[in-house]
Amino acid sequence: MNLSKMRLAIVGAGPAGIYAADLLIKAEREFDVEIDLFDQLPAPYGLVRYGVSPDHPRIKGIINALREVLDRTDRGDDSETSESAGAGDAGSSGPRGSVHYYGNVRYGEHLTLDDLKRHYHAVIFSTGAIRDAQLQIPGIEAEGSYGAADFVSWFDGHPDVPREWPLEAKQVAVIGNGNVALDVSRMLIKHAEDLLPTEIPDNVHRGLAQNPIEELHLFGRRGPQYVKFTPLELRELGEVRDVDMVIDERDFDLDDPYAEETLMRNKQIIVISRIMNQWREAQKLRESGEVAPASRRLHVHFWSKPVEVVTEAGRVAGIKVERTAPDGQGGIVDTGEFEVIPVQSLYRAIGYFGSPLDEIPFDAERGVIPNEQGRVLSADGSRLTGVYATGWIKRGPVGLIGHTKSDAMETLECLLEDRDQLWEPSEPDSSAIPELLRSRNVPFTTIEGWHRLDAHELSLGEAAGRERIKVVSREEMTQVARGE
Ligand code: NAP
Repeated sequence: MNLSKMRLAIVGAGPAGIYAADLLIKAEREFDVEIDLFDQLPAPYGLVRYGVSPDHPRIKGIINALREVLDRTDRGDDSETSESAGAGDAGSSGPRGSVHYYGNVRYGEHLTLDDLKRHYHAVIFSTGAIRDAQLQIPGIEAEGSYGAADFVSWFDGHPDVPREWPLEAKQVAVIGNGNVALDVSRMLIKHAEDLLPTEIPDNVHRGLAQNPIEELHLFGRRGPQYVKFTPLELRELGEVRDVDMVIDERDFDLDDPYAEETLMRNKQIIVISRIMNQWREAQKLRESGEVAPASRRLHVHFWSKPVEVVTEAGRVAGIKVERTAPDGQGGIVDTGEFEVIPVQSLYRAIGYFGSPLDEIPFDAERGVIPNEQGRVLSADGSRLTGVYATGWIKRGPVGLIGHTKSDAMETLECLLEDRDQLWEPSEPDSSAIPELLRSRNVPFTTIEGWHRLDAHELSLGEAAGRERIKVVSREEMTQVARGE
């Protein structure tokens, strides 16, 4: 097959999918490309809109770059495409490229693999990882025990989660030492009025304003030099207004040559150690009475492995942790020393997990689509023609948003290498997809619809003296986007 035009479906319009589209548009190629980008939500941008905390406007700003990709390429005009940052010099006479966004379209329900084979040469799945990894300890199912991902979806106004979140606990536990644990801790411990300058939805602000939290306990099963936090985010936690960072000096006293010799060579860890040392100094000042205590406290516990959620009448009443110690190789050994800390709610922030997709192989252990450099593999290890993956559903839920770019590049290189061995669509006409969706009564949204929704959210914000107020109901999002 000698391609003159490649029609590509991308399922998942978060950063992974949009970067993949951008890279294909800019790739050196001798054929035209038409890319249809599908998402189950009415608005694009995936985890940037529904995973990044509202008080991180710098990271949320990635939306502007992603939007540029959708805007510039939607017209299929190469002279526009070549203006985008770092774009290849396709030139107006070169091969053409276009992207169309279709929101509110659920793969497996509104579109099947057979549909994709009929209309495209290939598909890239970039559906990410949106569920919480499981923590297998007794009591984890108790009332008041939550997954971080669900809480993040709530405070980021995800349309498919309930509008209310039970915030009744004065003492709260957060398990995990990664950036999601930091986000969750910050959103729980911050005073709600300090979040007003952000885009938080009204219901989230109302909920957080009722939060009676006094103490948050953050648990890491390894030591302070083993954390997965990034320095900027960790420093920010210590700077939250009216919150004291409480450190257990015992956590810093352990003899751990592995950490000293190996980890302390890492620049990030050196900065992180400095930040924690500042917290320790601040604590000494407080203990000497030189500084007045804050109204909220954040206790940082290292070398503390959660072993049980203590319950009373089916509700979270405490967290039992076992003290751990370094094993000399970066791991831990149990010490047999236990402690119960009273808490009335608990959040596990121990990693995200991918979800299986209809008719697509899935590795249930790792929560990813099995693949080799982005080429999807079937159960017997052979390549599945025309099917590719990128982003967290390809490599697992690790890495910052920017890392998704190099990942997309790897997948695209494979796709381009395979360009003569893809599907042979029987209906490659670009108008066939909107017609198909209409015939199935799918209320799909487009990039023009996103512009309408974006303008609507900005105007809601302006009316309330805020930058933006996010719309959280799927119906309202859809109606605004479709101009109904
Ligand atoms: P993560 O960085 O992989 O951290 C997971 C944490 O959970 C680790 O501390 C891990 O400890 C701990 N953990 C895992 N299983 C555990 C268990 N059974 N018991 C106790 N602790 C356990 O994952 P994440 O926080 O979900 O973040 C995912 C990715 O998104 C990361 O790359 C992160 O940097 C990124 N992200 C970035 C930002 C930002 O830039 N602002 C915000 C959010 C997320 P061990 O190390 O001991 O396994």
